[in-house]
Amino acid sequence: MSNAYIGLDKSGSYRVYLAVTTDLVEEARRIHDTTPVATAGLGRVLTGAGIMGLMLKNQSDKLTVIFKGDGPAKQILATSFADGRVKGYIANPYVDLPLNEVGKLDVGGSLGIGELTVIKDLGLREPYVGTIALVDGEIADDLTAYYYISEQQNTAISLGVKVDTDCSVMAAGGMIIQLLPDAEEGAVDALEEMLADLPPITTLVEEAANAANGQGEEKMLSHMMERIFGQMPEAYRVDGLEFRDLRWECDCSEERLEQVLMTIGEKDLTDIIEEDGQAELVCQFCCKKYHFDKEHLERILASVKQV
Ligand SMILES: [Zn+2]
Repeated sequence: MSNAYIGLDKSGSYRVYLAVTTDLVEEARRIHDTTPVATAGLGRVLTGAGIMGLMLKNQSDKLTVIFKGDGPAKQILATSFADGRVKGYIANPYVDLPLNEVGKLDVGGSLGIGELTVIKDLGLREPYVGTIALVDGEIADDLTAYYYISEQQNTAISLGVKVDTDCSVMAAGGMIIQLLPDAEEGAVDALEEMLADLPPITTLVEEAANAANGQGEEKMLSHMMERIFGQMPEAYRVDGLEFRDLRWECDCSEERLEQVLMTIGEKDLTDIIEEDGQAELVCQFCCKKYHFDKEHLERILASVKQV
C-alpha cells in the first residue's frame, strides 16, 4: 500500500509530492478524540509534515513541525521521518469554534496569532531550525511562507481534511509542488494556470476514491495526477518517480519515557517516590500509558544520582 507519490515534470522545472492521508488522519482522530476543527488542524499538519518528511535524504533524518499560537488550540505538533512514518498531537483536542466566514472549519482561528517552527534533525551536531510568524494559521500558506522565507524555495502547497457529520474523516490529502532552480518560465505559467482552477484537495481525493473503486491508493494517486496535471502542455507534464508510503506510527517505548523521568531531576523524582510511590506517564503522541512502580522509579533515581 502506497499513499504518496513523487513525480518530476519532463522539463525538470518542478517536483510534485502528492499524498492521500485519509486513513492516517482518521487514526490520529481516533487516538486523540479530536473535535472536527482539531481534526482538520492536526490532519493538515500531519499531512504537510508527512510529505516534508519524504523530502529528507537519509532514513535516520527527522523533521518536526510546530504550530504555536495564542488561540484555543494552543499548539499542533507533528514529527515525521524519511521512511514515511508520522505522528503528532494537538495541545487542545477539544477546541470547538463556529465555522469561519467562508463556512469552513476555522483552523486559523483555533491557532490565532503565533509562530511556525520547523526543526530538521539531519544527524549533524546541531539540528536546523527555522521559525516564521504564522500567515493565517490555516497551515498550507504558513508552510509555503516557511519554505520561501527560511529555505528560499518556491512552493505551492495544498492541504485538506474533510470531516463527516459523525466526526470521522471522509477525505484527507495534500500536495506540495516544488519549483526547481532551473525552472522554465513556461512551466511556471502553466502551473499558475493549473493552480488557479484546482478544486480543493479533498474533492480530488473523493473523486479519485470513486474512480479507483477500491483498487488501492496507487490507482487513486495516478487518477489524481492525471486530473491535476493532465491538462498542462506536454513538455510540463509529470513523469513518475516513485510511490511511497505515509503512515501513522509512534515510536515511543518504556526506555524513552525513562529518559523523560531522568530529565525531571533528582529532587522531583524523590518527591514522586515518597509522595506517590509510583508514576504514570502518557505518550503525548499516541496516548499510550506507561506505568512505573516504586522499585522502577528507585532504579531510575539511582542512575540519575550516578551521573
Ligand atoms: Zn507513543
